[in-house]
Amino acid sequence: MSPSPDKYAVIGHPIAHSHSPWIHARFAEQTGQNLVYEAIDSPPDGFAASLKQLEKEGYAGANVTVPFKLEAFAAAGTHTPRAELAQAANTLAWQAQAGGKGKKKTVTLHADNTDGPGLIRDLVFTAGFTFAGENVLLLGAGGAGAGVLGSLIAVCPGSITIANRTLQKSRELIARHQVWANMHSVPMYACTLDEALYDEAPEDPEQPGKFALVVNATSTSLQEQPLALPFKRINAMGMVMDLMYGPAAEAFLQPARQRGLNTRDGLGMLVEQAALSFALWREVRPKTAPVLAELRKRVDGGKA
Ligand code: NAP
Repeated sequence: MSPSPDKYAVIGHPIAHSHSPWIHARFAEQTGQNLVYEAIDSPPDGFAASLKQLEKEGYAGANVTVPFKLEAFAAAGTHTPRAELAQAANTLAWQAQAGGKGKKKTVTLHADNTDGPGLIRDLVFTAGFTFAGENVLLLGAGGAGAGVLGSLIAVCPGSITIANRTLQKSRELIARHQVWANMHSVPMYACTLDEALYDEAPEDPEQPGKFALVVNATSTSLQEQPLALPFKRINAMGMVMDLMYGPAAEAFLQPARQRGLNTRDGLGMLVEQAALSFALWREVRPKTAPVLAELRKRVDGGKA
């Protein structure tokens, strides 16, 4: 008799339209791993209880999405350095340690954040974007903004401007990443979303005038309230990316495409971050390109 499959899940709210169960099922088929992966809708005030229940039921790991990434980090006992920097987690693993003689086995919840490396892998390897020396505008300082900033710093762009509706959150994110940014000689600037989306050069001459990459890590596309882009401040060959994907990202991306800019939604990043979570849990790296191609057809064809 074959052993029962290991259990994984994605937890969020809402979660019904998550593509993660489909993606992980493709990865499992491709690599011959014996696992099941489901979507779990947790009540907004019930995340801790949902986690406890999964642990009790013997789950091996979970992905965490909006709005629980900060809580997931706080709930974990151990963290990877990149999760520590982000103070947000999208990947959890329940790790069992054998107790000493006569002692019970203990279970530690370990947290990682694969959003940042997922974004970089998609932009560099799939989209062919080159970061060296280029100015980056990161819109949003929530869970996703925090999750990707450390990885953006590590690829050594010319500068990173973090714009958020709540300016204080941009400043906090910069303060937490300052040592890491100094190690990579990457200057960082904080501003409000309104300042960043203003179509003229910034008043502060220290701040970059033009950006080669704009990453929308706000949840405005998810809320169907697309942001307007500062086109005079984006390089002619620039890239505009929304971490949201499929039709929901179009209202933000289409005006950029109409002006001849390169655009990218978050579907490639979704597959890449999932592959990194899968590798953490199963110690095998699935191929992402065929899964992204198939998912793209499902999403654009309205089947998913
Ligand atoms: P979050 O933690 O709730 O943060 C939301 C962010 O959006 C904050 O910066 C918030 O600003 C800003 N915001 C919300 N409503 C706004 C509005 N009406 N106007 C201007 N700014 C607004 O969410 P998250 O986890 O960061 O997720 C953000 C987005 O990234 C979601 O669409 C999510 O689906 C996407 N995402 C995609 C991937 C992927 O793999 N493709 C991975 C992660 C996330 P304040 O701080 O001022 O509230």
